[in-house]
Amino acid sequence: MNPRFAPATRMLWHSGVLGALEQVRAAGFHAAEVWAQHLWDAQTAPLDVHRKAGELGLRLSLHAPSYDLNPLSSNPEIRAVSRRQVLESLETADAIGARVLVAHPGQLSSSTDDVDEYWTRLEAYIVDLNAKARALDLWVALEGMEKKRLQFVTNIPALERLAGILERLGSDAERVSLALDIAHAGTMGDPLAFLERVPRVGHAHLSDTSVEKTHALLGEGRLDLGHIVPKLLERIEATPHGLIAIEGRLSSDEPRALRVAAAYLKQF
Ligand SMILES: [Zn+2]
Repeated sequence: MNPRFAPATRMLWHSGVLGALEQVRAAGFHAAEVWAQHLWDAQTAPLDVHRKAGELGLRLSLHAPSYDLNPLSSNPEIRAVSRRQVLESLETADAIGARVLVAHPGQLSSSTDDVDEYWTRLEAYIVDLNAKARALDLWVALEGMEKKRLQFVTNIPALERLAGILERLGSDAERVSLALDIAHAGTMGDPLAFLERVPRVGHAHLSDTSVEKTHALLGEGRLDLGHIVPKLLERIEATPHGLIAIEGRLSSDEPRALRVAAAYLKQF
């Protein structure tokens, strides 16, 4: 199995983080993406995750908390608590031994807001994330989001704009890259076009996508993954720490979601 493939522990929510890591390794993987909210839900100590991943020989990334949060909110208190939780999750990433923190860029508070104000807030937020990541010798990947109400970092022009901000910030964003979500890209058109045009991709999320489910199991949706996955691997293998986190949860049969992913990805 390619060592960059990293099933998200969220796929195996009912097993808790430690149980999920064991199953991920047993399925033949060498990496995993831990969800911060999964740690909270299962009340798992970060140091236990560090120990377990060490025993199993798994490389880790951490997905920052995102539910109910908006680090760009026009509401100052929501904005503050959102940023605090994501910045603190860099410490959690460090404690579990992950090298990359995946974080959402934030969204509009109201569809009538001026999007340029959000880009300005995002820039200041990036500088804060970068400073803390640098202090801990970690990396942050900001995720391209699904086409959905209030999300604005979704399409190719927006990701190009974000990459341009990172370039312009120079050393103030040297620890920050983009996380390309293939299923999210699939809600906007052709993921191959994202791979060709979006620069500074340092991490990725991979699942299939279908009309009913944004994150469908690999091979069970409509994406041309036979062409997409090799190109995605090429991009991620060129980065020092990036992983391709595998998503797509089947709440009725979590182990099947992992089995399907393992069987599908062996060909790469
Ligand atoms: Zn995400």
